[in-house]
Amino acid sequence: MRKTKTEEKNQKTIQTDDGMLSSDFIRNIISRDVEVKKNQGRVHTRFPPEPNGYLHIGHAKSICLNFGLAAEYEGLCNLRFDDTNPSKENVEYVESIKSDVKWLGFDWGDRELYASDYFEQLYQYAVQLIKEGRAYVDSLSAEEIRDYRGTLTDPGKESPYRNRSVKENIDLFERMRRGEFKDGAHVLRAKIDMASPNLLMRDPTLYRIRWVSHHRTGVQWCIYPMYDFTHCLSDSIEGITHSICTLEFENNRPLYDWVLDELGVDCHPQQIEFARLNLSYYILSKRKLVELVTGGFVTGWDDPRMPTISGLRRRGYTPGSIRSFCERIGVAKRDSMVDLALLEYCIREDLNKSTPRVMGVLRPLRVIIDNYPKDQVEYLNAANNPEDPAMGTREVPFSRVLYIEKEDFQEIPQKKFFRLAPGREVRLRYAYFIKFVRVVKDEQTGEVVELHCTYDPKTRGGDSPDGRKVKATLHWVSAPHAVAAEVRLYDRLFLRPNPEAEKDGTDFKTYLNPDSLKTLTPCRVEPTLSGSPPGSRFQFERLGYFCVDPVDASDEKLVFNRTVTLRDQWAKIQKAQQHR
Ligand code: ATP
Ligand code: MG
Repeated sequence: MRKTKTEEKNQKTIQTDDGMLSSDFIRNIISRDVEVKKNQGRVHTRFPPEPNGYLHIGHAKSICLNFGLAAEYEGLCNLRFDDTNPSKENVEYVESIKSDVKWLGFDWGDRELYASDYFEQLYQYAVQLIKEGRAYVDSLSAEEIRDYRGTLTDPGKESPYRNRSVKENIDLFERMRRGEFKDGAHVLRAKIDMASPNLLMRDPTLYRIRWVSHHRTGVQWCIYPMYDFTHCLSDSIEGITHSICTLEFENNRPLYDWVLDELGVDCHPQQIEFARLNLSYYILSKRKLVELVTGGFVTGWDDPRMPTISGLRRRGYTPGSIRSFCERIGVAKRDSMVDLALLEYCIREDLNKSTPRVMGVLRPLRVIIDNYPKDQVEYLNAANNPEDPAMGTREVPFSRVLYIEKEDFQEIPQKKFFRLAPGREVRLRYAYFIKFVRVVKDEQTGEVVELHCTYDPKTRGGDSPDGRKVKATLHWVSAPHAVAAEVRLYDRLFLRPNPEAEKDGTDFKTYLNPDSLKTLTPCRVEPTLSGSPPGSRFQFERLGYFCVDPVDASDEKLVFNRTVTLRDQWAKIQKAQQHR
């Protein structure tokens, strides 16, 4: 099938080959500023989330950048909640944001700040603009304001209220604050230029009436400042030097500068835009993610399939792997799509070093070793991480009845299937060579229910004394010793690399992957895993990295999330790109 233009575009991925952070354009700007002692050589950044949802991996990019810059230049980074839209914001979101930033490893010291703390100051700034004739109260309806704004090709039209006297404006604005008007009756607008080619400069709204209680200021205010007015002034009040934001705010920069210039503030931060992170097969927009949560398409913000920090954490991602991912993608001026495979590469790289390897069987098939003494149990030595002897060894019980993976046996082996089949001998990891004897099937369904094999006692530990070779090594557990567990396997949340970009108006939820979660139960894992605390991580040999689900696991029930498989797609993608 031919690819559509969008699909082709979506497949472009950015590549960073080594983990090294090259100096990027933002660091170049800051280094120069520091050198010429701009802002007395200070560097002060901020991370400014709106508490209207949980943070996602895109925010992690911004967090790593802002806090990272502060650390590199021995400066400071504030955590500032941009809380000017009370109808969508709440304390749950504030708390989750704080815990996510902390978990990622960053510290805002005593600078947990809120735009809402500046409401009085912002109000006074607005009064100053009115007095200088740079703002006015408009009484057009929202719809009329939209009509008057014009389009990219047509200039806007001035509101009939644009030339109200300062006195009248002050009076109306004060009464707006006092609560004399209903939602939408008036707004405060900047008086800039209704013919500006930049639509945002056509007398943008600075304040609107909202009879909504705020999670911090309660019912103290019924007028709330708009983002463009609040953001630049909050930056200025906090003494921010470099205000780093994503590219979609490029058009807002003239307004950012206009407000600060008109008010003649002492601190005028420099706004710098960089490309936001887009991650293939995911959606990074709180507005859309909240739809998945409220619509019940996922189990919550921390569903392990979500690209949220809390989802990734529950899935088993480490803070280090996310930081390393953000470093590798770097910052650029051009929008691009990062391949999910890179994120998976980063977590694998981290877990490979740190997690113990264990054995667990996801789809158990009983195997009876006919020539193994009935009541005998042996404890075999298994390496906790063959790549790191310092991680030690453990004892794994072996007995006459075992479980192996269903898919490790084929009665009529396909081409290139080298595992267990009639006539075959294979190695059981850390244990013995076993040889197929016969298969037992369900008489009704024909399903394979049990295998009978024999073992060779001379191959203890998995080595053959006579140099005999086998083509496969299987993982296994001893049936009477194994512990039952539920295992959740995850796949990408969407079927398309960029579900947001479908231009035909199709709802992005149409592309949800119906197989993004597979729950397997009962799986059987080795007894050392019994009682593993929530959040502990393991590599199940041959199957991937898993962690104990921090929410649903309990003393009675082991639940594992698969963080990632062992298959490295990233190396493949890189190779393909090099050969292009
Ligand atoms: P969303 O669309 O998810 O709601 P947002 O930009 O509205 O994103 P904010 O809470 O305003 O969310 O974002 C806080 C900071 O994080 C902003 O500086 C924003 O530019 C940055 N940010 C948000 N999404 C991304 C992303 N995908 N990549 C990089 N930075 C991002
Ligand atoms: Mg935003």
